[in-house]
Amino acid sequence: MTLPDGDDRPLREALIDVVVQLDALGLNRGSTGNVSARATQGSGCWITPTGMGAAGLTADDLVFLDDDGSMRGAWQPSSESPFHRAIYAARPDLRAVVHVHATHATALASLRRALPAFHYMVAVAGGDDVPCTPYHLFGTEALSQAVAQAFAKRHACLMANHGLVAGGTTLAHALKVTLEIESLCEAYLKALAVGEPVILSQGEMAAVIERFKSYGQARR
Ligand SMILES: [Zn+2]
Repeated sequence: MTLPDGDDRPLREALIDVVVQLDALGLNRGSTGNVSARATQGSGCWITPTGMGAAGLTADDLVFLDDDGSMRGAWQPSSESPFHRAIYAARPDLRAVVHVHATHATALASLRRALPAFHYMVAVAGGDDVPCTPYHLFGTEALSQAVAQAFAKRHACLMANHGLVAGGTTLAHALKVTLEIESLCEAYLKALAVGEPVILSQGEMAAVIERFKSYGQARR
């Protein structure tokens, strides 16, 4: 089935661009990982198809998942689409989800450890840590529930023995959170290799989170 041209095309093109960037940065290789974005109008989201890498992937290959459980598109959706749906159901404010098996986030997830506030930028996920869910088989309802639970208080989490999932208010935001957390996981693992990193206090992180609310460029 071919999707009608112009049907959320700019959003779908932007989604493909994120997939290509993740591949170019080495955060996803082959057909691992997946990206989705809420449809601009109505219910549902667009998601990458299962088993297809970034090479040659086009906006027409994306699968539309409606909130009623139906889908349309030429391919089967990502096998990890259940947790994307669970995130959108739990967090109406989030409009994009990026999932990667990036090396450092996955290494930390294999230790089944959260990323603590060893650096103030951990607040990029909305709090003073990036939690790690218990291990569940990919594609299962149990994993979806665990991710949705983590997303009640954050917009990113590690999944034990699996990888990282990050949400954003836009595709660019979800990508930014993904890149930041992967970089933080790398720094944290390096610090752990030579000692015990000092963790910022709740008060120190509360000050960061407060500062983040007003951080950034404002138009004059
Ligand atoms: Zn995965």
